[in-house]
This record gives sequence, structure tokens and C-alpha cells, in this order.
Amino acid sequence: MLATVKGDVHDIGKNIVGVVLGCNSYEVIDLGVMVPCEQILETARTEGVDLVGLSGLITPSLDEMVHVAREMEREGFRVPLLIGGATTSAKHTAVKIAPGYHESVVHVKDASRCVGIVDKLTRAEARADFDRENRAAQQRERENFARRRQRKLVPYAEAVRRRFAIDWQSSPLARPDFLGTKVLRDYPLAEIVPYIDWSPFFMAWELSGKYPQVLSDPVVGEAARDLFRDAEEMLKRIVCEKLLTANAVYGFFPANTDGDDIVVFTDESRTQERCRFPMLRQQWEREGQTSFRSLADYIAPLSSGRANYLGAFALSAGFGTEELVARFEAEHDDHSSILTKALADRLAEAFAELLHERARRDWGYGRDERLSKEELIDEKYRGIRPAAGYPSCPDHTEKRTLWRLMGVEEATGIRLTESYAMWPASSVSGLYFSHPEARYFAVDLVTRDQVEDYTRRKGLTRPEVERWLAPNLAYETE
Ligand code: SAH
Repeated sequence: MLATVKGDVHDIGKNIVGVVLGCNSYEVIDLGVMVPCEQILETARTEGVDLVGLSGLITPSLDEMVHVAREMEREGFRVPLLIGGATTSAKHTAVKIAPGYHESVVHVKDASRCVGIVDKLTRAEARADFDRENRAAQQRERENFARRRQRKLVPYAEAVRRRFAIDWQSSPLARPDFLGTKVLRDYPLAEIVPYIDWSPFFMAWELSGKYPQVLSDPVVGEAARDLFRDAEEMLKRIVCEKLLTANAVYGFFPANTDGDDIVVFTDESRTQERCRFPMLRQQWEREGQTSFRSLADYIAPLSSGRANYLGAFALSAGFGTEELVARFEAEHDDHSSILTKALADRLAEAFAELLHERARRDWGYGRDERLSKEELIDEKYRGIRPAAGYPSCPDHTEKRTLWRLMGVEEATGIRLTESYAMWPASSVSGLYFSHPEARYFAVDLVTRDQVEDYTRRKGLTRPEVERWLAPNLAYETE
């Protein structure tokens, strides 16, 4: 039985696993996406399944998987548990999930491994050996994790002192052409298509290699060419018959920082606060590291007297996916169903690239940009568009502030689940930073002093903050 856990909407990988297992004569029950724990347990019990597979893409799903494993233990389940999806890892499975459930808990790194693993777990003579090796590997993961936690983390106050310091007096600061938001509804898909980055598309099918070289690869080339032909055909249909709809909202706002908070003001007088994005800061002193970054470093402090701006965006190319997929599923055409979702994801990412280009023009500094599509995909331009839930700003709850700031749901129809996944699945959102020195980085582990400070800034309780930041905590919670 397969399920994408509560709060999460992504299922391309899980669906590929389902197809692969089905082709190998396993009977698969797929509960779909956003499946509550109770339904997983209930179905597993009534159907008497042999294995449970949980999938998820965003970090809050990791916690939900821990919860499901504990519930399986509490209710006395005796079947192996498989874990898969983008943010899952052998480490997280070993450290957080496996200790809660006494049966085999196995991390499945990619869909190509599922048949081998399922085969071993369902044959009594193979299962014991496999389980022993899996447990030994997980023990090693836990020991490595304990060592990782002992890495040198500087106190938060020191990290703040040693911030990534931009010289605000000499920095050129661009003022956007407009302030507030712009809404783009039903954006022409044909304009988005040229911005597609095809490499991740092949990765979704585990055909590794960069596009276009992957098409002539000696090993996967033929499969890649077949897949690409199907994709182009489907894409043509989607564009000509307008089977999917793309909507976006983006905007620019007067902003300055107050410590590690980015403060958005109602207008240029910068006297009235509209909202705040509290940011996290790196604390891990890597070899040769001299400064500790936070996204707040890329915006001028209010005390600098400089007028700075923050951009924001949310978009989706996924409206219509559910209807289209339902049509294919009624025809038992799994291939087309998965293809549709993968293409909707590609269109959303391409739309993000297109919209960022447009935003750089609105901001002024992008007007003279002359970049090829390849250079755009390599993000060789000034400025970044970090997304909440990604390493520079790992807290998904920041999306709630973003949604309020731009009225995202009313403008575009994109909704947030209880885990802050965006629905439809093929959606992208984030902040725009224009400073030439803005770079992506990973916040990584944070210590209790930073979490306490952040808790105060967020206006939440510490257990709430610790729940959302679980993958980043450098300490055990009470
Ligand atoms: N061309 C790719 C683009 C997606 S990945 C595709 O079609 O799939 C790159 C995006 O991920 C960035 O634009 C940014 O929004 C996000 N990102 C990557 N690293 C990040 C980090 N460290 N912190 C925040 N966001 C990050």
C-alpha cells in the first residue's frame, strides 16, 4: 500500500513506484495524496497489506512519517515500512523514523530500487538477512548523525556579529517600476515553453544526464528519446487545447531589516509595518568560513537610511492537472497521467524563470540583460528567488505571510495545505532579492539560543517552532 502523507501533495515518484511494482506482479493499493494517518492504518488493517510505503516531498512530511511509524508501533503492526520522496533520506529514516517502529523500516532512495527491496522483504528466506544489514547500516547512520551534531556551531550572537556584511552606503539599490502586486491570469503557455529546463524531467524518470546530451547517452539515450517524444506530443496537446492554466502574482514592497527580520512597510514613508519575515542565520563554522549568512543580510537595515525593496512571487501551472489526470486514470493510462504531472511541474518551474526575468526588468537592472535560455536556466543573472522550505529559509510557515502579503489565494487560486505544501502541486513561490551579492546558502543546523530568539520574533511557542524546524535543530527537544 502506498500513500503520500497528510499535508503533502506530491506523488510523481510514488506513482512511478506503483507502476514499477505493478509491472512486477505486485498488487498495489494507492491511497493518493494528503492521506491522514488514520486512513493509512485503517486501510492497512482491513486490506491486510504486506508492506506500507510512505511518500513525501516537503520537510514537514518527515515529521508526519515519524508519527505514522509510531502509530503503527502503538497499534501492533507487523509489516515493513518503506520511506521515500525528495526530502527523505537514509539518515532521517535511521535517526527519526526507525527507532519508533520495531519492524523493518527501509529508506528507498529511488524508484528503481523498490522492486529489489520489496522482493527481499516479502520472501521469508531473504528478509532476515536484508533486515540485519538494514539495521546495521541504520546504526552507522545514527553514529554519523551524533558526530554531525558535534560540529562546531558558533553561538547565535556571534553569528550575528559575524554576519555577511554589505556596504550599504556604496551599494547601488534599484527601485522597481511599480510597488504593490501584479496579477497574471491564464498566462499563455506557449510563451512559457521555451523556458523549460528539461534535465529535471529526465531525472524524474531516473534517466540521469543533462539535457540534451541525455538523448544521445549510450545507456539511457533510447529510453530518453522515447520519453521525450511522448513529452513533446503531450505538451503540444496541453498548449493547443489549453488543458492547463497558469496563474501568477508578483510584486515589490518597501523593505528594510530590523535585526534578522525583514520588515515590509505599507509605503515609502517606511513608518508603518505591513508584515515581517523573520529569517534564520547560519551557525555552522565550516573550514574557511568567515561570515554567517542570513537572507536578512541582503536587505539594508532601517538604520542605514537607504530605501530598499523586497520582491515576492507565487505561481502555478497546475490548474487543470487533476481533471486531465482523472481522464487518463479512467483509461488506466498511468504513463500519460505521470507525464502530465511531470510536464505541469516543468511548466511551473519555467514560468518561475520567465517571471523572474520580467521582475528583473521591472526592477530596472535586468533591462540590459542578454542571456540565452541556457544561461537563464543556470541562473546567471543578478539576484535570487529563494523559496520557503529550501535551505536558505527552511521554515515553510513563511508562506503564510507571503500569502497574506500578496493575497495569493484570491489572486491565483493557489492554496496552502496544513503542512504548507502548495496546491496545485505544480506551484512555485518565493522572495526576490536584487542585491548583486545575494547568493543561495544553507542555514543547516541551528542552536537553542537562535531558536529562542526566532520563537520570540515569530510570536509562536517554542514547541511550534521546533516542530517546523525539526530537520534543522542541533539539539534534542524536550
Ligand atoms: N531550473 C530548475 C529550477 C529549480 S531549482 C527546474 O526547472 O527545476 C532552483 C530554485 O530552487 C531556485 O531558483 C530557488 O528558488 C530554489 N533554491 C535553490 N537553492 C536554494 C536555497 N539554498 N535556498 C532557497 N532556495 C533555493
